[in-house]
Amino acid sequence: MTIAARITQIRQNLPDSVKLIAVSKQVSVEAMRIAYGAGIRDFGESRVQEAEAKQEQLADLTDITWHFIGRLQSNKAKKALELFAWIHSVDSLKLAQQLDKLVQENHYQPPKVCLQVKIESDPQKTGWTIPQLWVDLPDLDRCKNLQIRGLMTIPPLGLNENEIKSVFDRTKILLKEIQTKNCLHLQPTLQLSMGMSDDYQIAIASGSTMIRLGKILFGERS
Ligand SMILES: *Cc1c(COP(=O)(O)O)cnc(C)c1O
Repeated sequence: MTIAARITQIRQNLPDSVKLIAVSKQVSVEAMRIAYGAGIRDFGESRVQEAEAKQEQLADLTDITWHFIGRLQSNKAKKALELFAWIHSVDSLKLAQQLDKLVQENHYQPPKVCLQVKIESDPQKTGWTIPQLWVDLPDLDRCKNLQIRGLMTIPPLGLNENEIKSVFDRTKILLKEIQTKNCLHLQPTLQLSMGMSDDYQIAIASGSTMIRLGKILFGERS
């Protein structure tokens, strides 16, 4: 199947409540144009430099929303704020505070962000454990220059389907709890950024609102 056909097929079966983000890391701008032609308006990138080059080459497509989904190093934070409307991968209080300060100092539009959480321990991933997130929420609440929209999670590798579902369900419950306790200036509409090519259907069943799909749209990355 072609990229356009795959996109069309997946979009047809998505509930209206779920936004499809095409993860275009390591994908050519030619393939991205095909995706755009098939209706994609949200692209996810995990490297600031790669995204900057692609945004220049795709500058004629003015209605793309760019999502940063990778690990953000502090020396790239300012550039990321200039390039991306969304940052899904805010993974520490330190990064949140740095972004908050940069937005204020430079009079940027407050970015929409998700807090990246680790529901199960995972040495390969950054992000908040649940106890640490509760500890940091009061300080996060002071980051008034961020539009905190919700949570992002990636299940550890090697889980079975039930375990993956449990990770997504607990992420949803955590967001509800934060909302109920009213301890963070969460801004509507609340988002759960969860689900990749191999687990997006499970994520949707658990209430995902943003799925991040790469290889199922564009093929395997080299
Ligand atoms: C690469 C990546 C994706 C897309 O993964 P696929 O398995 O290709 O769908 C989604 N989210 C993040 C954070 C990624 O790094």
